[in-house]
Amino acid sequence: MFTGLQPTAASLHIGNYLSAIKGVLALQETHECILCVVDYHAITVPYDPAQLYQRRINIAAEYLAAGVDPERVTMVVQSDVPEHVELAWLLGCLVPVPKFEQLPTYKDKKARYGSAGFGLLAYPILMAADILIYKAEAVPVGKDQQPHIEFAREVARRFNHTFGPTFPEPHAEINAGAYIPSLDGQGAMSKSSGKGTLNLSDDEATIRRKLARAVTDPARIRRTDPGEPTRCPVYTLHGCYTPQPELEQIAAGCRSAAIGCLECKRLLADEVVADLGPLAARRAALLAHPDRVREILAAGAKTCRPLARQTLDEARHKMGLS
Ligand code: ATP
Ligand code: MG
Repeated sequence: MFTGLQPTAASLHIGNYLSAIKGVLALQETHECILCVVDYHAITVPYDPAQLYQRRINIAAEYLAAGVDPERVTMVVQSDVPEHVELAWLLGCLVPVPKFEQLPTYKDKKARYGSAGFGLLAYPILMAADILIYKAEAVPVGKDQQPHIEFAREVARRFNHTFGPTFPEPHAEINAGAYIPSLDGQGAMSKSSGKGTLNLSDDEATIRRKLARAVTDPARIRRTDPGEPTRCPVYTLHGCYTPQPELEQIAAGCRSAAIGCLECKRLLADEVVADLGPLAARRAALLAHPDRVREILAAGAKTCRPLARQTLDEARHKMGLS
């Protein structure tokens, strides 16, 4: 298993946690796992160099605070294993340019920032290299990353077809938290946009305040109006926290206006606080002594480099470069 998260904010949000990190937690008992802080991806959009280093540490601390077991999962910073970039160059030679331009995340970020550097265009080939360099098969991600996993599969197929069987085709592991909308109702929750996020660093009061202000079904204006739960970000989060019988009661109560948005949000806040409250406390404790986090990342680089080197050498040899 391989997955990576970008240090594009001071803290991960609940969408990153419920999709990618929960995916790692589900697989860490049964799979060889590599969990990456993908800093070379984070520099494909405008960023502040003074903050990047600390953000890498924060995110690694959040992996641990969320329950990632460093005895089972190798945690590593992408730029500590430069072989990823070299493999990306080799693989990139197999892919026609329009394939890159079609990908939705490229189009979205290009539109958001008004321009795009080569790094943003090349993002999916580096991501394919991140995964393929460890011959990973399972990749827990959110829904937005599915096209990138499909791209990585195609790259693996092309390489295998051209140079002989080398890479397994990876698949996305998609779970219930795969798409968490922003609490302001504007598309997906996103670290870099920073609006409408619930963060893993938020304390109880902040979580309750953010949820109390969250947008719900826009058609439900008065308490007596019936609502449509599938249009409501609060209900989507309930889907990740609330057991099935209660979830059905909430959906029915929303549709019949038997339950109001305030009550629905309070029920959710109790669940989220019980989960994220202790996580934020563990995060703070880890960041008070970040040496332990740094040691874990240094050990991760030591483990990953020979693995990455081996695949890179194999690919170079098959391509006639050695
Ligand atoms: P950025 O805005 O910088 O792209 P992000 O919030 O999209 O940040 P990434 O680091 O790009 O986070 O992605 C990390 C993981 O979180 C990926 O597996 C991605 O699919 C997942 N993810 C991102 N946003 C959401 C979301 N709204 N709901 C569920 N999963 C998400
Ligand atoms: Mg993203």
